Amino acid sequence: MTTDTAVRARLRGAALVDALVGLLGPDKVLGTREDLLTYEYDGAVDTATPDAVVLPQDTADVAKIARFCHERRVPIVPRGAGTGLSGGAIPVEGGVVVSFARMARILEIDVPNRRAVVQPGLINLHLSTAAAPYGLAFVPDPSSQKACTLGGNVAENSGGPHTLAYGVTTNHVTGLEIVLSDGTIVRLGGKAEDAEGYDLVGAFVGSEGTLGLVTEITVKLTPLPEDKRTIMAAFPEIDQASESVSAIIAAGIVPAAIELMDRLATQAVEAAVRAGYPLDAGGILLVEVDGLRDGLDDAAARIETVCREHGATTLRRAASALERDRLWAGRKGAFAAMGRLAPAYYVQDGVIPRTRLPAVLRRVREISARSGLRIANVFHAGDGNLHPLILFARDDELERVREAGLDILRACIEAGGSLTGEHGVGMEKNCYMPLQFSPSDLAAMRRVKTAFDPDGLANPGKVFPTPGRCREYQLTATG
Ligand SMILES: Cc1cc2nc3c(=O)[nH]c(=O)nc-3n(C[C@H](O)[C@H](O)[C@H](O)COP(=O)(O)OP(=O)(O)OC[C@H]3O[C@@H](n4cnc5c(N)ncnc54)[C@H](O)[C@@H]3O)c2cc1C
Repeated sequence: MTTDTAVRARLRGAALVDALVGLLGPDKVLGTREDLLTYEYDGAVDTATPDAVVLPQDTADVAKIARFCHERRVPIVPRGAGTGLSGGAIPVEGGVVVSFARMARILEIDVPNRRAVVQPGLINLHLSTAAAPYGLAFVPDPSSQKACTLGGNVAENSGGPHTLAYGVTTNHVTGLEIVLSDGTIVRLGGKAEDAEGYDLVGAFVGSEGTLGLVTEITVKLTPLPEDKRTIMAAFPEIDQASESVSAIIAAGIVPAAIELMDRLATQAVEAAVRAGYPLDAGGILLVEVDGLRDGLDDAAARIETVCREHGATTLRRAASALERDRLWAGRKGAFAAMGRLAPAYYVQDGVIPRTRLPAVLRRVREISARSGLRIANVFHAGDGNLHPLILFARDDELERVREAGLDILRACIEAGGSLTGEHGVGMEKNCYMPLQFSPSDLAAMRRVKTAFDPDGLANPGKVFPTPGRCREYQLTATG
């Protein structure tokens, strides 16, 4: 994983842009102030400006860029659609952002083997749309699926409403082509279910761009279910809704999805999407069961019984595909709907054992009251994956907002959970890693990174605490 290229002084700014234009031609390089501004952001709150942005056309371009950056000791930061919620695609140490916008093709849909081979810039929803005529789908469905890319999904090991029954991205990836930070092209896995030796595909999925760049992905396609039943259950109190989540699963039913929304989130969604959720509900569950048609009505009826026993006052089963789509449009549009409540929001992402949902949601309410910040909740309840959305209006509130977010993460970890469910660590939570991991845990992870990326050029400043940015945090693992 090393090359014999000579190391030269790090290039920056206009000199770097000029050198990249020489390497790739002007059509694949962006370097003006206006162009670079677009790449300062993702879906989170941190920003940093790249020295240059490159738009490779194929794996050979990516390898060329990586070799060049390695020789010049320039950080290399992969970017999909920039919908990430932990600052993963933000070039916190400058360098070259590699946008995969032009590597967005489906290379193969292999129906007999139920596999697809795709480029990393492909938008998630486009894959399922292309596979639908064959009765197949790519299951992981982040709520951002109309925009986010497969490369971003692999890097973040993304989940979605329907990953409760089917598993998150790592359960659906069998092969990868990657370019290491020195330009070496490596193939891991393939179309087979399991490869012999270490599970390097598994190591790469969820590595947030810190091990290298994904240039091709082989994924499983799953047969579309014969049918579905979608139920909206509204409860006067959010505790009743969150207690129902564990009760449904304890009853022996594993729905494809269980999503929860509190009153504030419902109000925003109704104002924006008009999904038909009752505005007076303290908590709303959206529950879906799918599979063979036989038995679905029975499962739906059992879910409704559990919800009724826990105090549900409204139960609605979607009577048509249109009604189902409307219920889901509300959930999938919930983050965007926050604009109805406040000019800005900061979304937290912690995960807890689902039986702890009522207690941790109470802690979130206490944190909201103490901080004076409104917090809406809309999340993958079946997975115990919380997404408190902390609303704010002005930049000078951001410190208070981050403090409230950190308090929520502490509550998740104390409840036996983790500091990220699916949005990743990125540069948002790298300083918080010692809350959950001991120095020796972090050292073991660092050794994995070093095996792939010995010079630390792949997406630096992410996942691991950095002395510069994390100096003021004195956090230690609790358990
Ligand atoms: C409204 C909204 C709803 C969301 N809902 C969900 C949800 O339900 N579930 C969920 O899990 N997430 C969700 N997200 C978060 C986000 O959409 C996912 O993390 C998504 O996978 C990011 O994809 P992207 O293409 O935008 O990646 P980016 O934001 O561009 O990048 C994310 C990370 O991936 C790395 N990366 C990108 N491409 C590559 C590549 N080719 N090789 C190596 N590394 C790469 C980047 O360096 C970065 O670290 C949501 C975001 C928004 C804004």
